[in-house]
Amino acid sequence: MPSYDLHSHSTVSDGSLSPTDLVFYAAAQGVDALALTDHDDVSGLAEARKAADEAGIRLVNGVEISVTWRKRTVHIVGLRIDPAHPDLLQGLDVLRQSRVVRAEKMADELSKAGIEGSLAGAYAYASDRIISRTHFARFLVERGYAKDFKSVFKKYLVQGKPGYVPHQWADMAEAVSWITGSGGVAVLAHPGRYDLGRTNLQLLLAEFKECGGIGLEVISGSHSADMNRHFTEQARLLDFLASRGSDYHGPEQNYLDMRRLPPLPDACTPIWQAWDGFDD
Ligand code: AMP
Ligand code: MN
Ligand code: MN
Ligand code: MN
Repeated sequence: MPSYDLHSHSTVSDGSLSPTDLVFYAAAQGVDALALTDHDDVSGLAEARKAADEAGIRLVNGVEISVTWRKRTVHIVGLRIDPAHPDLLQGLDVLRQSRVVRAEKMADELSKAGIEGSLAGAYAYASDRIISRTHFARFLVERGYAKDFKSVFKKYLVQGKPGYVPHQWADMAEAVSWITGSGGVAVLAHPGRYDLGRTNLQLLLAEFKECGGIGLEVISGSHSADMNRHFTEQARLLDFLASRGSDYHGPEQNYLDMRRLPPLPDACTPIWQAWDGFDD
């Protein structure tokens, strides 16, 4: 069976490899079909497609959209989207602009905590596309405020910490409609990462389905083995198609090589089952 990795990031968002380098890395790791799913941006897909043609692997057009659901941030991956679809482009554009405003607030808050220069410092790590918490994390680690990525989030960039600013992302129904409206399918990313509690998680899955979401990322590079097992079962019970993605961000940010991501268990129906002969 070909190896599908349907979640990854490039320098267009907060990954550290260019779309071309990412695609060649994936090919070397034995990936046969890669989705580039940058946060709130599709502008790396053209370069990635060219590289995939050269490397002899398939590229799936993707995106990872930031969504606010009942005051919590969740991520929805769109696969096989049309990167030229006007509603999608317009929606993503608004999200990227709102990131600029959030970044300014984050820098103000960090400054109140005695950390100066974080806005320019974060932008020095960002491409001209999006600014994210990851870019602040790189700056803070560079300046010695934390020893690594994991601790910098814990100390500064999560709820209750100085550099965290609450933010309103896209509405879930809206985000799913941009994806499906462009011909793509919507997948709930890394469901194990949301700290929602059992009841709210069930509610999220039900509402996601009502909105037109059809996929669940049951195997994720950011899941534990237990989470992978749990969501494999959930996909089967709730009749979601199953997706698999490393969520690779580059060598500094990942402890898991793409090659080491577990395969999709036989118990679930792969989201790519209906994709045979796909030409994207
Ligand atoms: P943003 O969309 O700007 O809020 O940034 C979110 C990104 O930060 C995620 O996509 C991850 O790449 C990264 N991130 C979030 N939480 C953590 C964490 N605890 N450890 C490492 N990276 C994280
Ligand atoms: Mn990220
Ligand atoms: Mn995510
Ligand atoms: Mn991701």
